[in-house]
Amino acid sequence: MIPTKPSHNFGSRRIYYNNFAGHLLNAYNPNMLHLGMPYRWSDQDWASLVDSIADFGFNVFEFWLEPRLFSRLGLEEPFGIEFARQLRVIARHAHRRGLLMEMICGLATAGGAWHTLCPNLPEEWQEIQFLWDAWTRKLPELDIVGIFPGDPGACSLNVCSALTYIDKSIEIAHLVLKNLPEAEIEFNTWGPPFFGWGNLQGPPGWKGEFIQEYQHTAWDFDKQRTDESMAHLVRRLPDFPSKTSIGVNLGFDSDGNPGGERDARPWVLEIAKTHAVQTWDFSLTEGENNVVPHYRFNRLFNRRKQERELGVYSGGICFTMTPLLNQLSLYEAAHSFIDPGADPDRLAGDFYEGLFGSEGRKVVPYLVYFEVIRDWGNYHQIELPRREYHQKMCELEAILEALSARENPPFHVHPSPETYRQELLFFARFFREVSGEAPDYAELRQSYWQRVYAIYDQLPQHVDPRPHAAVDRLIHFFQTLL
Ligand SMILES: [Zn+2]
Repeated sequence: MIPTKPSHNFGSRRIYYNNFAGHLLNAYNPNMLHLGMPYRWSDQDWASLVDSIADFGFNVFEFWLEPRLFSRLGLEEPFGIEFARQLRVIARHAHRRGLLMEMICGLATAGGAWHTLCPNLPEEWQEIQFLWDAWTRKLPELDIVGIFPGDPGACSLNVCSALTYIDKSIEIAHLVLKNLPEAEIEFNTWGPPFFGWGNLQGPPGWKGEFIQEYQHTAWDFDKQRTDESMAHLVRRLPDFPSKTSIGVNLGFDSDGNPGGERDARPWVLEIAKTHAVQTWDFSLTEGENNVVPHYRFNRLFNRRKQERELGVYSGGICFTMTPLLNQLSLYEAAHSFIDPGADPDRLAGDFYEGLFGSEGRKVVPYLVYFEVIRDWGNYHQIELPRREYHQKMCELEAILEALSARENPPFHVHPSPETYRQELLFFARFFREVSGEAPDYAELRQSYWQRVYAIYDQLPQHVDPRPHAAVDRLIHFFQTLL
């Protein structure tokens, strides 16, 4: 059973969070949104993935009911009907493997264009309630329902503020419980805090539509707004359903960093007097849209130690948008909750030895060289001269070529160790070529795009064109590497 009193048992909640939203589609993420397009997963694929994360040590499977689904079209059209069917199949297998099923959803952002409905307009509030009601009827297997403020979306119109988000979420939480009386509510503070509510700006005539150029304003920090809204949350905690936990990071910035004006720790301690708290620190494992094999685990483990030191966190999320490529990140992230004092390099060695025998350990020292882009949450600075960088990738390629998968790995991995090795080889070769003496950047850009993001060539322009920018950034790094 889910605890109703704060357990404060660090690491007891270990959440696999697969974000497969429309701006994060790629060859290593399930396409849950577009039937007849690439990257669809079968029920078998999903069962294998669930087996893998269960073996790694996760005990919650979390997904975002992203806005294209959280809409009338998502409820009625074949893509949404198939989504709900497959989600229920995944949930049943997750339950067999001892995982709880968690859905998170933005309070009010609905539809493929990421339009935010205003809870202070009666007909739009009615629509918000309709969508929450319909979706929580459709997915009776849910154990946890998370409400989060936005990203994308949030409302600052019609005097909407962070307080509106808190008050309306309480109403939604009770509505959810009518359909799912056993469910836990997870209420999220994400952002500076409460992303966008009252601080998101738009141009004259703005009616709540998503406008990329204004999204950054949702991060505008104002100490007074923070104090007032967090005090309001604390005051209103007793009005949430009794089984409610709170998602709040150590700091109110995008990397969850504690300290300074944005330190969230006093609030975390206050909330923990009555409620279980977990982090929703999105910045630790992969960042967004920088699709490479990741290796950024010192920060991950340091953050876990900071969380544990506070003495009240029960766990949190481990984010992925590339579960078919970054199995190591998932393995490390699950272990970071189980054993925050562990050495991440040793764990990586254990992982590779598990897949490829003792020769696999040779891969580990090279993995950090994929972290050339200082994207969301990445603090590495790779400063090798071009020639030396190129040499590293030649060595890595040779090591990967010589590996062979073990017959019986000590844990299940999805996809197979051999498929994983082939993917790593693709990246080692790509990075070797792009760091060569006179690479054909245009051709390399195209080969990377084809391997990673080809689905976007078949889709209408998304409201958030991050994938193109991400590929340009990666190529640009090597164009300017001396
Ligand atoms: Zn509003």
